[in-house]
Amino acid sequence: MTASRPLCHDAPDLLEFEADVVDTRPGMVLLTRSAFYPGGGGQPADRGVLRWHGGEVRVERLDAEGDALWHVLAEPVLVEGAILGVVDVAFRRQMCQLHTDLHVVNALAFQAFDGALVTGAQIGDDGTARIDLDLPGADNDRVRALEPAINDAIRQNLPVRQVYVPVELAASERGLLRSRSVTPPAQADGTIRVIEIAGLDRQACGGTHLSSTGQSPPIRILKVDNKGRHNRRIRIGLVD
Ligand SMILES: [Zn+2]
Repeated sequence: MTASRPLCHDAPDLLEFEADVVDTRPGMVLLTRSAFYPGGGGQPADRGVLRWHGGEVRVERLDAEGDALWHVLAEPVLVEGAILGVVDVAFRRQMCQLHTDLHVVNALAFQAFDGALVTGAQIGDDGTARIDLDLPGADNDRVRALEPAINDAIRQNLPVRQVYVPVELAASERGLLRSRSVTPPAQADGTIRVIEIAGLDRQACGGTHLSSTGQSPPIRILKVDNKGRHNRRIRIGLVD
């Protein structure tokens, strides 16, 4: 499976964009381009609106069909002409904070527990997120004890950047493919997107992230649950 690079990867700060209508279906519109994150990998889709001359409609969700990203509208209005897409800045920022923090959590768990893989993740819209890690036999107090190191990595304001690694190299770098079940699709050029936190972590990912860890407030580990014999579910929350 291949995919072309979405705008939210190449222009993560582009939160208002101009576009034209390519195609419409009842309650849906396809644009020449879109900065909306479509959702996936445990990160919800962006929220926001489309504006045009004389109208505005909320984007309910996004449906990806191959490279085509359909904007599903909250009301079945006819969207036409030149469009201004506006991504909800506060929502995107919080998603980037929690998502980047999850990378920090699982990087430190990977180091502390000898290569623990991710078995699931979900970011909520309430300032919390959870990650499931394959940690057979791990003591939950040791998991909770990661909190100071997580906040230390946030406070250090480590740069976060995306790089593209050839698929065959990605498979041979320990920990790069961190998820037990999901492998992000390769780009059309045979590379895979990797998110690098300077000095801390490299892992394949298709979500949106901060450009440095210090743009997140500190986090608290709210809960560590046993989910089956192997899995630990760690819930974190932003401290405001
Ligand atoms: Zn990510």
